[in-house]
Amino acid sequence: MNKIITDVLVIGGGMAAGWAAISAAKTGARVVIADKGFMGTSGVTAPAGPNHWWVPPEPDLRRSAVERRLESAFGLADPVWMERIIDITWQSIPEIAPWYPFSGDGKGGTFRSGLRGPEYLRALRQYAVQLGVTILDQHPVLELLARQDGSIGGVAGYDRLNDRPWSARTGAVVMATGGCAFRSGLLGSHNNTGDGYLMGVEAGAELSGMEFCVSYSISPAWLSTRTLPYTGARYFDAEGQLLSIPGWDKPRDYLCKLADAFRAGPVYADLHEAPVGLPAVIREIQPATVAAFERRGLDMFKDRFEVKLFGEGTIRGIGGLRIIDDVCATSVPGLFAAGDAATREHIAGATSGGGAQNAAWALSSGVLSGRGAAHEAKKYRKIPDQNEKLKPLGSAGLRPSGTVRTVDRKAAIQVTQKEILDLDRALWRSESKLNSSASLLDATWSEMRTSLRGEGLEAVSARETAAMVATARWCNASALARKESRGMHVREDYSQQNPEYQSRIITGGLDRLTPYLEKTRSTEVIS
Ligand SMILES: Cc1cc2nc3c(=O)[nH]c(=O)nc-3n(C[C@H](O)[C@H](O)[C@H](O)COP(=O)(O)OP(=O)(O)OC[C@H]3O[C@@H](n4cnc5c(N)ncnc54)[C@H](O)[C@@H]3O)c2cc1C
Repeated sequence: MNKIITDVLVIGGGMAAGWAAISAAKTGARVVIADKGFMGTSGVTAPAGPNHWWVPPEPDLRRSAVERRLESAFGLADPVWMERIIDITWQSIPEIAPWYPFSGDGKGGTFRSGLRGPEYLRALRQYAVQLGVTILDQHPVLELLARQDGSIGGVAGYDRLNDRPWSARTGAVVMATGGCAFRSGLLGSHNNTGDGYLMGVEAGAELSGMEFCVSYSISPAWLSTRTLPYTGARYFDAEGQLLSIPGWDKPRDYLCKLADAFRAGPVYADLHEAPVGLPAVIREIQPATVAAFERRGLDMFKDRFEVKLFGEGTIRGIGGLRIIDDVCATSVPGLFAAGDAATREHIAGATSGGGAQNAAWALSSGVLSGRGAAHEAKKYRKIPDQNEKLKPLGSAGLRPSGTVRTVDRKAAIQVTQKEILDLDRALWRSESKLNSSASLLDATWSEMRTSLRGEGLEAVSARETAAMVATARWCNASALARKESRGMHVREDYSQQNPEYQSRIITGGLDRLTPYLEKTRSTEVIS
């Protein structure tokens, strides 16, 4: 087994992982990044080409940017966090100039807010390597390892390149494994299976905002691509009748009308009325989107084509590991969280953070968690017993509680997709639908927990399946606990926003889930 010793181990290979590693390495810490795929193409950052929340440091501009965003956050965002991440984003992006070819903004300045994903990740990679960071590509992490005091002191995983297990002893871990799209086919999300949520909860961490996982992208029916081309799209049914679908500025109405249309049959998009200049912009900044049509002999701005909604789960939904301080620590000593692996309620409230906030969050939570983890790791540098036995924390998929049996993993994933992403269940939630989903998901989880074990490389997909089922249960349980409608979470049986719920729903637990409303923890557990 390949054993590594480091101060900070960053799990992930997207923008949050890159910034976390850079910020930890700047303090002089030894840093290792372990990515499930290749840091540069894995995860959603690469195809997303993220646009960041980008506000110049003028007090009035910053104040009004925060105020505008607070208005659409449904009472759950935090202005102090918003100001912090705007500032860190503004300070950090220029740092990658030696490696990233920024273009002009057409006004004599430099365009810095929107970055092309692959070049962005290549720049982060080069910056990190220059600071001495070791990058382990194709090294999925399977589980966290705990010291005797419960703090996180290592990780174990599987080295796909050499087909062997690997492990690391570390001072602290940054979990930057992205969100979970439940293998919906969403652009770039194949590796985003909620592994970080499962590993975190196994270590005793909590999750926050998991009920806010109701986000979808529209794309050609055969392939998920970027959504920018749909500005000004018109939609038609199979008979060619124009459908009345509101614009994106009303996300809920837009999704509900589209869902109604999909119920009636296939839906087609027509981009003839796209704003002048958009086709040229798409060709310039999203050539892969255009290629997806050209391969089928279609001109995306002239031909009508069938569309579909791809579930985004917690990627442009906003739940994730709960953070408890301003360096993104979780409640487990030695474990920090960044990017989509962490909750984004601080900056987005109950609305999707996609469009600008999520990227700014991934960057700045990366910077903060890297700094926090490096500081934490200093404590362990001087510990004489570097051979202290670490306890492996992985459960489902690695150490079943009963007899190992063959588990139909495909069927398990289908159950999670149906119960969490299905439009009828997600857009119009109710106690009875959520309870019915809970029964099915609990049964699926129980099977994973009792019988599933993957050997060798198979352990990776066993853990991914277990993580998706676990994530679906946390989303469902949180949606049951929020007995009101707020932001992207809508309940048919509680159709109004209720001031008593102007607080976060925290959840956790593996077999018994423990959702509660943050402010009332000491007195009330909702289950
Ligand atoms: C199509 C699309 C467009 C978007 N556009 C925007 C936008 O314009 N503005 C905006 O603000 N937001 C946007 N978003 C959201 C934004 O892209 C994300 O919030 C951001 O990229 C998240 O970065 P991340 O590093 O947390 O996750 P990711 O980039 O998804 O990285 C997660 C990494 O973790 C790795 N990983 C997962 N599990 C393991 C494991 N077990 N072991 C090791 N590694 C693991 C994966 O391989 C991956 O490298 C968009 C999202 C999508 C899908």
